[in-house]
Amino acid sequence: MEQRAGRINPASYQLLSLAAELAKSTGGQSEACLIGQGVTPLASPLGAHGARKVYAVDDAALAMYRAMPYATAVCAVIDAADPAIVLFPTTAMGRDLASRVGARRRAALAIDCTEVSPQGDDLLITKPMYAGKFSAKFRLSGKRLQIATVRTNAYSAAAPQSGATTDVQPVTVSLSSADQRLSIKEIVSTTSGVKDVTEADVVVSGGRALKSADNFKVLYELAEVLDAAVGASRAACDAGYQPHTRQVGLTGKVVTPKLYVACGIDGAIQHLAGMRGSKVIVAVNTKKDAPIFKVANYGCIADLFTLVPLLTQEFKKLRAH
Ligand code: FAD
Repeated sequence: MEQRAGRINPASYQLLSLAAELAKSTGGQSEACLIGQGVTPLASPLGAHGARKVYAVDDAALAMYRAMPYATAVCAVIDAADPAIVLFPTTAMGRDLASRVGARRRAALAIDCTEVSPQGDDLLITKPMYAGKFSAKFRLSGKRLQIATVRTNAYSAAAPQSGATTDVQPVTVSLSSADQRLSIKEIVSTTSGVKDVTEADVVVSGGRALKSADNFKVLYELAEVLDAAVGASRAACDAGYQPHTRQVGLTGKVVTPKLYVACGIDGAIQHLAGMRGSKVIVAVNTKKDAPIFKVANYGCIADLFTLVPLLTQEFKKLRAH
């Protein structure tokens, strides 16, 4: 379970559902692992989300994420739990940890999977490659520990079951001086509490067509009614309309929300690389042959400055009911 400052990343709940599904076919059970300082109270509620057991590594030295001590902590949990399969979300932390733990344990490892299914002792995984142009299938051998990072929203989180309980097992970890080589002096948030594009179920993105930072207001208003994060194309970020932390694409962030609304974005291949995995794509563009329409489930040939405020108005009405 990925957590920062006591908040569990929603993608982790999706992994618990997948783990429960895998456990059904492999005859095992789904168990969770929590690492950090003061994380033990977060463990019991995980029973409702399908964890039959939770390993908690609660240590002041793990207060903030650092790759080396966290990898040591995950390995300590692997020693305690002896799992066949370990899942991480495909996040910066998940990728970082999965590869380190994989190397330490000589595991079979696949990053950014969209499908994970058991076949005998092996694990069949599907993952997009070459910026989403291909989808490749791999088999992870059951002769080794199998580790996969799973793309956010590739699986849905099951609704919590009231009354379900879990065993909480504390795990202690002894960190070496090598683990402690890196220390964190200060963390400065650049997002100041604004929803990150990689974590939101809905992303409303804008392109160069927005023409200014001020004009992005029209997207922020729509985002507010949809409880969405605001993203942007590289052209919009390079022009200074939005910070690069919001850039979606090959050199930005990869997002896989339930709904992606692309406003005034042409649909260059580098942009598609960051959002084509979204469940439903809506595109608003004045140009009827804009490439974005090739990947869109719903295309609106319209001026965004006319259509987006109308959408905001209508969603407000719907939400009011
Ligand atoms: P434009 O291409 O200028 O498109 C604007 C669109 O808005 C047009 O389709 C136009 O018809 C439409 N429009 C204009 N006015 C309106 C209106 N009033 N209402 C509705 N529609 C309107 N790009 C990314 O986004 N992310 C990346 O990570 C990224 N990485 C890159 C990496 C490399 C190595 C390279 C070479 C490029 C990368 N790019 C990336 C840039 C990419 O190639 C495009 O240049 C960029 O995505 C274009 O942004 P845009 O669609 O906002 O702008």
